Amino acid sequence: MNNRKKTALIIGGGVAGMEAAIKIGNAGYQVLIVEKEPQLGGALNKLYSSFPRWENPQDLVDDKVKKIEKCSAIKTMLNTVVTSAERKEKTFIVNLDSASVSEQVEVDAVVLATGFEMFDASVYGEYGYGAFENVYNSLEFEDQLKAMAGKDKSELPQVVAFFKCVGSRDRSKGFPYCSKICCMYTAKQAGVMKDLNPDAKCFVFYMDYRATGKEYEEFVRSVIEEKHVRYVRGRPAKVLPENGKLMIRAEDTLMGVPVEVAADMIVLASAIVPNAKTGELAEMFAAKTDQYGFIEYDSKNPVQAGERVFFAGACGFAVESLGAQHQGAAAAADVVALFNQD
Ligand SMILES: Cc1cc2nc3c(=O)[nH]c(=O)nc-3n(C[C@H](O)[C@H](O)[C@H](O)COP(=O)(O)OP(=O)(O)OC[C@H]3O[C@@H](n4cnc5c(N)ncnc54)[C@H](O)[C@@H]3O)c2cc1C
Ligand code: SF4
Repeated sequence: MNNRKKTALIIGGGVAGMEAAIKIGNAGYQVLIVEKEPQLGGALNKLYSSFPRWENPQDLVDDKVKKIEKCSAIKTMLNTVVTSAERKEKTFIVNLDSASVSEQVEVDAVVLATGFEMFDASVYGEYGYGAFENVYNSLEFEDQLKAMAGKDKSELPQVVAFFKCVGSRDRSKGFPYCSKICCMYTAKQAGVMKDLNPDAKCFVFYMDYRATGKEYEEFVRSVIEEKHVRYVRGRPAKVLPENGKLMIRAEDTLMGVPVEVAADMIVLASAIVPNAKTGELAEMFAAKTDQYGFIEYDSKNPVQAGERVFFAGACGFAVESLGAQHQGAAAAADVVALFNQD
């Protein structure tokens, strides 16, 4: 008789994967987290602050890591990826590769939690991403904010412009979908910029803004009204370097007037796309993906991606960290229910 304890394999140790691991481990089953990076935490490790409560994202990561370390049922393998998998009747034989070892494990369920990437904004040549200095995508800008913290405001940018919907809601060059979280994180980033340098002028160029979550509308309003970030309705036509500045030309479609802004820095809210390896892993575990490469869900079992295969977080679609945790917990509940039935 096989005395091996039921084990769930979690692929991706961002907030979604960590939450799933904690819930499954605390329910008494074994968990193996496989994370390709040298630390757990995913994109939250890169963030300076988080909407909608101006919290330090590192506190959330540290809290999850502590819970994982406390739970003896959870094993974490960092710098590790899944190279292949073979489905048996009720298990998977999975090959793992890390810098030091190759290993084979047998697991009874899989949770895909591989997260997201940013759309390559250089497709919009007119915005100068990858060509001009000081044009960043939003995730890179979080690093910039970390680097700015603690500096004298005279050393910081004085004019920062944020472009929303870059690659989202654009059938011609990007994707038709709305990336859901960028209205919120753009407001946050502009608000943080004003906190770091109250003299800075921040402009947000938008088509419209979507703030549909608990405390979201109040958050964006506070950025506009209390931090004095200026929202300009209009899509910038072009960015050109002029006299050491980035000259932005747009039309304010509410006022019906042309707008010119000479910015020191431009931040592009690029579309959220699935992590590049998601498709490969989905195929390995016979999970479905949609036309954009996100894991496809079944309306009746929203975190189920296939037989004994579940998913959570941004590999399914753009989601904020609270939603990613909810999905991690939901995937864990399904795994535990499956193991209880076996
Ligand atoms: C610019 C920006 C600002 C944001 N600001 C906020 C905010 O203020 N508040 C908020 O709530 N949310 C914010 N978010 C959203 C937040 O980052 C996500 O909700 C969260 O990161 C989703 O967690 P996840 O675990 O699904 O994915 P991720 O954080 O992407 O984690 C996925 C993990 O899987 C790993 N992985 C990927 N592929 C593999 C593989 N093949 N093998 C092993 N491991 C793999 C990755 O290395 C990563 O650690 C922001 C997002 C962006 C882009
Ligand atoms: S969330 Fe806002 S910025 Fe992002 S695609 Fe949707 S409307 Fe555009």
